[in-house]
Amino acid sequence: MSEQRKQNLAQLTRNAAFDAVVVGGGVNGIGVYRDLSLQGLRVLLIERNDFCSGCSAAPSRMIHGGLRYLENGEFDLVRESLFERDALLRNAPHMVRPLPTVIPIASWFSGTLNAAAQFLGRGGKPAARGAVPIKLGLALYDWVTRKRRVLPKHRFHSGAQTRRLWPALTDKSRRSAVYYDAWISHPERLCVELLRDVAEAAPGSVALNYAEIELNGNIFRLRDGLTGATFEISPKVVVNATGAWLDDTIAALVQGKTERLVSGTKGSHLIIDNARLYDALNGHMAYFENTDGRVCIVFPYQGKVLAGSTDIRVEKARRVRCEDDERDYILGALRLVFPKVAISADEVVFSYSGIRPLPHSDQDFTGRISRGHDIRRLPGAVPQFCMVGGKWTTFRAFAEQTADAVLSSLVRNRRVSTRDMAIGGGRQFPDDPSVLCRQLQAQHALPPNRAEQLIDRYGTRAAELA
Ligand SMILES: Cc1cc2nc3c(=O)[nH]c(=O)nc-3n(C[C@H](O)[C@H](O)[C@H](O)COP(=O)(O)OP(=O)(O)OC[C@H]3O[C@@H](n4cnc5c(N)ncnc54)[C@H](O)[C@@H]3O)c2cc1C
Repeated sequence: MSEQRKQNLAQLTRNAAFDAVVVGGGVNGIGVYRDLSLQGLRVLLIERNDFCSGCSAAPSRMIHGGLRYLENGEFDLVRESLFERDALLRNAPHMVRPLPTVIPIASWFSGTLNAAAQFLGRGGKPAARGAVPIKLGLALYDWVTRKRRVLPKHRFHSGAQTRRLWPALTDKSRRSAVYYDAWISHPERLCVELLRDVAEAAPGSVALNYAEIELNGNIFRLRDGLTGATFEISPKVVVNATGAWLDDTIAALVQGKTERLVSGTKGSHLIIDNARLYDALNGHMAYFENTDGRVCIVFPYQGKVLAGSTDIRVEKARRVRCEDDERDYILGALRLVFPKVAISADEVVFSYSGIRPLPHSDQDFTGRISRGHDIRRLPGAVPQFCMVGGKWTTFRAFAEQTADAVLSSLVRNRRVSTRDMAIGGGRQFPDDPSVLCRQLQAQHALPPNRAEQLIDRYGTRAAELA
C-alpha cells in the first residue's frame, strides 16, 4: 500500500468527522471537493474505482460553448459554458488550448425551420443545418463573448476558399464557416492536478480511491476496496457526484423511494492513425452532421486523429466499451465528410467510451436531451446534494453552485472563488511555452522533444518531473 494511502487511512482513524462527504471522483465530484475544501471545510472524497475513470475520462475533449444547444434555446447554458471555456483557457493554459473549427455547409436555408420549431419546443430530430442557422448561431456565440474576447470571431469561407483550405472535404460542401472553441489534451491529468492542489491547500481533507460508502441504519461506513477494512464516518452532508450511477447511489444511501434523476447515454470515440486524414483537417476540428442528424466531430490529436461520437441510451450504468457497430458508425460519418480519404478499421489504434449522466428525459432523439446541470437536495438527518447532469466544460461552475448550496445548509460562508484560480501546472504558465522549454532543456540536459512533451503534460510542474 502506498505511503499516501496509509496516511489517508490513518487520518480517517484519527478523526472520522467530516463537514461533507463527496461520493464520486469524476470531474464534478473532484470540483466540489476542491471548492468545499478551499472554503475551510473538512471534506472526504470517495471514489469506487480510480479517480476520473468514468465519463470524465471519455469526453470528446472539447471545452466549448455548445453551438448546437442554441438550437434547443439553452442560452443560459451556452453563456455559462463560454464563460467557463474562457476561464479554463486562462487557468489551465498547459492543457486547454484554442481549437479552430470548420463547419462544412451544403446549403443556405436548410434546417432553419427545424431549428425554429425546436426553439419553440416542437422539434424532433434535426435536419442538416444550412448557412443561415449556422450564421445566426455563430453570431450569437460571438455576441456573448464580445466584452472579454479571448478567441477570434467566426468567419465564412466561399466555395473556392473552402476547397483550397480543405481539398479533401466533400464536394457537397459549397462553403464553410470557421469558429473557435477549445480542447483539453489530458482530462484525467487535470483531475489529478485538482486533487494535488487540494492536498497542498487543505491537508485536512482526504481523497480516497478504490473505496465505497455504505449506510447501515444511521451509520455511514467506508469500505477500503483494497484491504476490505471498514471505517465508521460521520458527515454533516453528503454530495452525490456519481454521474450515471447517481440513482444507484441514492438507492443505497437514502431510505425510501425517490424519482429517477439521471438517464445515461453511451458515447464512443476512436483514435485513428491515418496521415491523410490528419493532413485533410489542416489543423482544424471538423464539426458536421451524420445522416441521422447527430453532430459528429473529428480533430487532430497528439499526431493522430480523434473522431466521435455515438449517443445510445443505456438503461443501467455500467463499464462500457466501443462496440464494432459504433466504430462503423463513426467511420461511416468520416467517409461522408472526407470521401476522398481512404479510412479503414485497421487504422483505429484506440477507442474509448463513457456514459453521459444526462438529466432524466423521455426525449426520443438523445442529441436533444439537455446538457445542463441541476442540484437536487434530498432531505434527511444527513442531507444529500445530488449533482445531476453537467459537462466537463462547466465543472467549475457546477461545483461552485453545489458548494454554495452545501455552505448555505451548514451556515458557512464562502472564503474564496475558484473563478480565477490557476490549476496545477497552469500556475505561472508563460504566454510563450518555448521559454519554459529552453529552461528545462538547459537545466536537465533534455532533448527538445522530451522537454516539450513534459511541458505539454505537466505545465510548470515539468521541472519537478524532470
Ligand atoms: C461521449 C462523451 C463525450 C463528451 N464530450 C464532452 C465534451 O467534449 N465536452 C464537455 O464539456 N463534456 C463532454 N462530455 C460530458 C462530460 O464528460 C461529463 O458531463 C462529465 O465528465 C461528467 O462527470 P461526472 O463527474 O459527473 O461523472 P463521472 O466522470 O462518470 O464520475 C462519476 C464517478 O462516480 C464513481 N462512482 C459511482 N458510484 C459510486 C459509488 N457508489 N461510490 C463511489 N464512487 C462511485 C464512478 O466510478 C465515477 O468515477 C462528454 C461525455 C461523453 C460520454
